[in-house]
Amino acid sequence: MTEVFSGQFTQQEPIPEEGIEAALAVLRHGRLHRYNTAPGEVAEAALLEEEFAALSGAKYCLAVASGGVAMTTALRALGVGPGDRVLSNAFTLAPVPGAIAAVGALPVYVEVTEDLTIDLDDLVAKVGQARVLLLSHMRGHICDMDRLMAICDAAGVAVVEDCAHTMGAHWNGTPSGRFGRMGCFSTQTYKHVNSGEGGFVISDDAEAMARAIVLSGSYMFYARHRAAPPPEAFEKVRYEVPNISGRMDNLRAAILRPQLRKLPEQAARWNERYRVVEEGLRDTPGLRLTTRDAREGFVASSFQFLLPGWQPGAVREVLARCLGRGVELKWFGAEEPVGFTSRYDSWRYAPVPQLPRTDRVLAGLVDMRLPLTFGLDDCALIARIIRAEVGAVWQAGAIEGRGSA
Ligand SMILES: *Cc1c(COP(=O)(O)O)cnc(C)c1O
Repeated sequence: MTEVFSGQFTQQEPIPEEGIEAALAVLRHGRLHRYNTAPGEVAEAALLEEEFAALSGAKYCLAVASGGVAMTTALRALGVGPGDRVLSNAFTLAPVPGAIAAVGALPVYVEVTEDLTIDLDDLVAKVGQARVLLLSHMRGHICDMDRLMAICDAAGVAVVEDCAHTMGAHWNGTPSGRFGRMGCFSTQTYKHVNSGEGGFVISDDAEAMARAIVLSGSYMFYARHRAAPPPEAFEKVRYEVPNISGRMDNLRAAILRPQLRKLPEQAARWNERYRVVEEGLRDTPGLRLTTRDAREGFVASSFQFLLPGWQPGAVREVLARCLGRGVELKWFGAEEPVGFTSRYDSWRYAPVPQLPRTDRVLAGLVDMRLPLTFGLDDCALIARIIRAEVGAVWQAGAIEGRGSA
């Protein structure tokens, strides 16, 4: 009998009961705006920032309305403006070049490796073209951060980390987001904690963080933050920096606080699922798994593999066969952007360069989510289905000049 998977790849777990209770308390008192507090009350948003700063080991933390707002705020706080160039990953999600465009800057894309990290040799070649690198740890793949920081430090390039897929992850023991001048996170539904929309900026840089807080729309209430630089840091900034509203509210903060406490446990559950899929796909002919450095402490909320050198028609065939058995795969090689999946040549508001290595990787790159609503048996079944369908198409000759296709 042909096995079929019936789970939903977009279904996350419910909000923990503790979060629902806390959200109801906020709804009942009605003080949703983060600066609307009763005498002596500390806003949920301020507590959330304090807790995320502690969790990530950062001096300062700012909660904002989305991951996109976090990145835009960080770039502005570091003085990136119209016409500036910003280095970034060619393989990332649309909000990343979107954040660069939002401040009027232009991306300089760096190629991707077969292990889905930024190509550090290409970074060496391009690092002189900008003052800032917006580094996206896309799909949770973390590059050699020691080498990356050495390259950027030597060139005087400030690093802003996009940690949308690395909340709770680390490189060689240092939390993701703590290498660069600023780290940006998303709390959007498909990330590691879920408030629908939301994000964080973390940093140890008092001046940049004071700017970020005012930029986020603090009015003159910055003293109500608990993970902010001291009031002196705002003395000049308060007059010089525009208030561009993109705040976190108390309702979402209340939902997030219990989730942050569960993050290490959730990370372990994600990685268990990842390992089951990885084992199930190991040594599948025609399929390349990504290799991961022993120093990479990843949190695998999604899974990627490559079908290197495959004809587009053969990749499409695998996707269709898997979908027919309930396994929903995304493909970064498609000509047209679909759903959340787009690539650098679709972002035509910015210059589209020639990136042959990235094109080669994306042509065979297959991606899927691993929500925690899937059990380990589900993951084993998903791997069996992919293995069988990749095998069937491979045998028929997925690569030109090989087999019958
Ligand atoms: C989701 C995501 C973001 C931020 O997204 P928002 O929807 O704005 O919170 C940033 N970078 C990557 C790689 C993402 O996947």
